[in-house]
Amino acid sequence: MNLDTSAVNVDTLPDYAPIPASSLGPAVNEQGYYVGRVERNLYWVTDGVYQCGFLTTPDGVILFDAPATLGHNIQRAIDEIAFANGVSNKVNYLIHSHHHADHASASSLFGNDITRIGHEETRKLMLRDNDPNRPAPEETYQDSRTLEIGGERIELGWHGSNHSPDNSYIYFPNHDTLMLVDVINVGWVPIYSLNLAVDVPGYIAAPDVALGYEWTHLISGHMGKLGSREDVETHKEFVNEIRDNLTQIFTTFDPTAYYQHYWPNMWASVAEHLDEVARRACAPLAAKYAGRIAAVDMDSFVLSTAVWILESLRLDLGLGIQVHP
Ligand SMILES: [Zn+2]
Ligand SMILES: [Zn+2]
Repeated sequence: MNLDTSAVNVDTLPDYAPIPASSLGPAVNEQGYYVGRVERNLYWVTDGVYQCGFLTTPDGVILFDAPATLGHNIQRAIDEIAFANGVSNKVNYLIHSHHHADHASASSLFGNDITRIGHEETRKLMLRDNDPNRPAPEETYQDSRTLEIGGERIELGWHGSNHSPDNSYIYFPNHDTLMLVDVINVGWVPIYSLNLAVDVPGYIAAPDVALGYEWTHLISGHMGKLGSREDVETHKEFVNEIRDNLTQIFTTFDPTAYYQHYWPNMWASVAEHLDEVARRACAPLAAKYAGRIAAVDMDSFVLSTAVWILESLRLDLGLGIQVHP
């Protein structure tokens, strides 16, 4: 078998709409990161795509996620802040939002002498994945847990599965901040299949859970900006519009022609039918959200997201599922 491994020809690549300036964050430095204060001793670090956070405390630094793309830049960012403020730069705690390698694989850079904390399912999944870059957290919690470290308060909450089964809400009540990763890509559309959501109803409900907390700043794990409550509302509006468009088209559109035309190739009928519903549901989005959300013209992300929501409408909510008479 010969697989095509040839280099891509950039002249044949498609063009996309310009990225709204409001979707981009501060410029990164020479090493490729930006570190900024969220509030008081809470900071965030980004490379423009991934984000993590950290608190400087008298008990050392508490790190929130360790994205692979930030890697050694995490300690560089901490050193920069710690040096400027005359506080410890030693990471003593790492709190994980969820088990995924992209947000956790710089963990091992901080050695074995730190306390790792995460949801019990995060521990189970990291043990299963057995990746030396991200040792499983030894300290876990089930539904909620309040941490008091170095005089700072951190409230961990698990409100059901969404993007992943183990995604935690990390709340900083004294910093007016929530960290919720891989649900809202601030200023950008969700990537493939609704940000790869393993639980679509849980993912669609998550922004309201987030808004149920009191906060001004959102550390969303992506992209180059901190989020606001308005960013969460824009994300909600976009995802709800896809869901509502799908519902309207799916329940009124007559697909009989596909099933007659392709019989007995049932998969051709299903694919053509559902893909067409998804295309029609997404058709108005690019014009409507241009300038508000980046990459709304990107079919691979937006259409796969619509197909995934449509399957959830059918399978989770029973839309259009008919019991044979
Ligand atoms: Zn993830
Ligand atoms: Zn992510």
